[in-house]
Amino acid sequence: MSSSDEAIIATWVVRLDCKCPSCNEQVNLLDDVDFWDDRKLALCEHGTNRSKGVDVTCPKCGHDFEVELEY
Ligand SMILES: [Zn+2]
Repeated sequence: MSSSDEAIIATWVVRLDCKCPSCNEQVNLLDDVDFWDDRKLALCEHGTNRSKGVDVTCPKCGHDFEVELEY
């Protein structure tokens, strides 16, 4: 038994990794600060129409391309 009543916090870490076709870097698409702007997408969504052909921007080089989301 713990002697403290303080809750231990566990933090979800969500990443959306892919290889950019332009700069060939492995990037986390969520590093693009505009990723969630006007986007209706659930966390970890995949296999749905709106998780296919998703327009993304490479956070490293700024290249725009489309991805299909998998989990
Ligand atoms: Zn890139």
